[in-house]
Amino acid sequence: MSEVFSADVVKAAFIRSDGECECTKSNHKHSGRCNNLMIYSMRGMDLPGGWETDRVNSDSPPVAVNCRIICMDCFKADK
Ligand SMILES: [Zn+2]
Ligand SMILES: [Zn+2]
Repeated sequence: MSEVFSADVVKAAFIRSDGECECTKSNHKHSGRCNNLMIYSMRGMDLPGGWETDRVNSDSPPVAVNCRIICMDCFKADK
């Protein structure tokens, strides 16, 4: 469930990300933080620059600190 973040929360989280993927999952191909470039207008697009939101854990409230902005590669790797 990642669709619970409000538009304001997502925008704040995206600004915090600096447009670079915030994923740090150790089971992905990147080591450390992914840092793939993302483009704000490309949310949900399965293209370079595409991205989605990721909730830090399902029990956490839908606030910006619990909203990770991740590139489409990382989003797909989690499925
Ligand atoms: Zn990524
Ligand atoms: Zn990743």
